[in-house]
Parts: sequence; C-alpha cells; structure tokens
Amino acid sequence: LFITFEGGEGAGKTSIIEEINQTLTDKGYKTVKTREPGGIKISEKIRQVILDRSHTEMDARTEALLYAAARRQHLVEKVIPKLKEGYIILCDRFIDSSLVYQGYARGLGIDEVYHINQFAIQDCMPDVTFLLDLPPKKGLERIHGNYEREQNRLDLEDLSFHQKVYEGYHLLANRFSDRIKLIDAGQSFDRVLNSSLNAIEAFLK
Ligand code: C5P
Ligand code: MG
Repeated sequence: LFITFEGGEGAGKTSIIEEINQTLTDKGYKTVKTREPGGIKISEKIRQVILDRSHTEMDARTEALLYAAARRQHLVEKVIPKLKEGYIILCDRFIDSSLVYQGYARGLGIDEVYHINQFAIQDCMPDVTFLLDLPPKKGLERIHGNYEREQNRLDLEDLSFHQKVYEGYHLLANRFSDRIKLIDAGQSFDRVLNSSLNAIEAFLK
C-alpha cells in the first residue's frame, strides 16, 4: 500500500506521519516512513540543491526537473522494492506537490509538470493520498513558532504564493477525487490522526 501525504507549509504532515507510523508498527504492520524530496542519499542531495537558500537564481523548470529526478531515484531505489516486499509506504509529499508548487503556484502548468513526472514515475501512483487541508495563514503561523524547523528557499515566498498552493491542492482534490482524501488539518491532532487511520484501515481490510 502506497500512501502519500500532501499539504502546504505547517499543515502537520511530518508529525502525523510519525504518529501513523508508530500506530501501524504497534499493530504489527511492516511500514516505511519516508519523504520527498529525499528519502535516500542521492535524493537528499538533490533536496539540498533545490532548497538551498542561496540558490535564488534557480529556474522554475530546472526546479521541476530536479524534483522529478529526486522522485525517480527514490521510487526505484526505495519505494518500489519495499512495496514488493509488502511494506506500507508512508511518504511525506509526492507528485501532487510538484503539480501544485511548480505546476500551479509557479505557473508551469499542471499538465506540463504531470508529463515530466509521468516520465519519472511510469504510472507508479499512490493508492491513496491524504491532503492535510489548512489555510496558509494558519500554516505559516504554526511554522513561525517552530525554530527547530529547517530553513529553506521557500521561506522567501510570500503569502500569495502559499495561497496559490492552497488553491492548487483543491483543484487536484477535485480532479483526482478517487485518490485524494481531504482531511481538515485545523482540527485537533487526535482527530486528524483518527480520520487518517480510519481511512487507512479501510484500505487494509
Ligand atoms: O515538506 P517539506 O517541508 O519537507 O518540503 C520542503 C520544502 O520544499 C517546502 O518548503 C515545500 O514547500 C517545498 N517544495 C516545493 N515543491 C515541491 C515539494 C516541496 O516547493 N514539489
Ligand atoms: Mg514537514
């Protein structure tokens, strides 16, 4: 089972994945918690290149290609082999992030970015995607109070960029409504956790 988590900055993806991973492991499931861009050595290096705060000159298409390259390597080296071994994959971000951030918010076009990603993933799509839905103002408030969080180039974007990300995710949730499950990330952590776990249990039956 290939599960991905999506949402804007501060929506709580990383914390919820951590907790879901713990719960599923306690129940005896074999799981892999991973993230994009990253998850393996080469893709973590690509992540550093993309997110380096000094790389302000990076072209949007270059950025989109680097994300797709990181995705490809992570998929063939980790996700696909682990799926074959029967693991549940819990991945922090995947293709939808590219469609939304590069395709929609940066304006490259959702369909164009989808094309380069098709080349990268060859139809290996998630079985289910949880969209942790939170208005960007709230998300940004959350991350500004968190000084342990890694700084990155996206911190330089303003609220209107994050507003586009929010809109873009809603477009995708409508377009891929069979795959993408919307979860209100403004609820308490326990409620977000329970909604996600209930949906996962339904898949595991
Ligand atoms: O999810 P995480 O916070 O680790 O992502 C790192 C950064 O990369 C975030 O600021 C996110 O907005 C950005 N990102 C992006 N385009 C993607 C994926 C992530 O701009 N396709
Ligand atoms: Mg995170």
